Amino acid sequence: MNSKDNYNHGRREFIKGVGLATGAALLTPPLFSFMPATNGGRNGQNKKMGIALVGLGRYSTNQLAPALQETENCYLAGIVTGSPSKSEAWKKKYNIPDKNIYNYDNFDEITNNDDIDIVYVVLPIAFHAEFTIRAAEAKKHVICEKPMATTAEEAQRMVDACNANGVKLAIGYRLHFEPFNKRVMELGQKEIFGKVQSIKAADSSDMTGGSLDLWRLDKERAGGGPLMDLGIYCVQGAVYTMGKPPVAVKAEFGEITHPAYFRDVEQSVKWEMEFEDGVVAECETSYADPEEKKLLSGKAENGWWKVDPAYSYEGKKGETSEGKMDFPNIYEQVYQMDSQAESFRNNRESIVPGEMGVRDMKIIMAIYESAKNGGERVEIRY
Ligand code: NAD
Repeated sequence: MNSKDNYNHGRREFIKGVGLATGAALLTPPLFSFMPATNGGRNGQNKKMGIALVGLGRYSTNQLAPALQETENCYLAGIVTGSPSKSEAWKKKYNIPDKNIYNYDNFDEITNNDDIDIVYVVLPIAFHAEFTIRAAEAKKHVICEKPMATTAEEAQRMVDACNANGVKLAIGYRLHFEPFNKRVMELGQKEIFGKVQSIKAADSSDMTGGSLDLWRLDKERAGGGPLMDLGIYCVQGAVYTMGKPPVAVKAEFGEITHPAYFRDVEQSVKWEMEFEDGVVAECETSYADPEEKKLLSGKAENGWWKVDPAYSYEGKKGETSEGKMDFPNIYEQVYQMDSQAESFRNNRESIVPGEMGVRDMKIIMAIYESAKNGGERVEIRY
């Protein structure tokens, strides 16, 4: 876990600099259009945008709030929480004024608060739609965590609400902002080793042995199991390797070997994503895998690549048929939020817009449909 404490500040500044240089050398618009702002945010019309985090769980606490101490285009302006004790602790730790602290009931009053430009929804998945739509109706831009929603229809309603209220919506897809995964996009989409022939992606964890009382194990709050929470990274990885979405999927659920944990959501899923030229991505996800895989690899006509781990916050490693990928691990949430804030400030879509989240939910729903129907091939309509 890359909490702020895991970084030496001087090293972070150095790494950020390297990240910029690396990004500049590697990436060409429009596919790779994000370049973190270097001077934005502190003056005049480039004012830093105020972000309110909704839901102060582990991701907000350990990743996003510390990242917001490093961002140049946005800052932690407010919080929305159901817990008075968290309000007090966060208020002290981050010097947040009382007027910028909300609970889930009075949240809509945020519409009157000029300090808050962006609402960042970091709640269990089933609450993403409600809070995104309420934020849009309060005329705030929204960043919503992955996966965007529990169904594609819900995801579309979120996009529609943002459009109807004239605000922007982006998804917390942090891997679009870090060099290893950006290199995979480039290798695949620019066909640097020729046409892609196959992809493998795996994202698994081991929740067995831990608490049984987790929203991630409760379908009503999580929408589903590991496919929703982790499998989304494989879906994303395959799609950004190809630069286009799959035409069809085939999937099967794994056996339930830990019934106490998986009464409600699937324990594991394996699936294939088929792209229009016949390329197949083989993917897997699980909540009961001691190996805790985090793989994204690809094979092309004249070479191959492998990033492993590809999805962790830090410690990414990558190699290609030509040698090691020599990139720094950066504090990717800093880059993600800086880019998203900069897009919103300039009235542009983020490179990871709500529509991308809707697309991914369509893919995930097709994977569930196939798995429920004995692995039949399900074509996806976008
Ligand atoms: P968490 O369980 O640590 O935090 C969830 C927060 O929601 C808590 O503050 C909890 O109090 C609050 N909450 C409000 N109503 C709740 C309810 N009815 N049940 C349970 N909690 C409730 O979860 P997390 O790991 O911080 O995940 C939050 C969101 O962030 C999820 O959408 C998750 O997918 C996403 N996430 C993204 C990343 C990433 O790398 N992008 C990493 C972790 C989590």
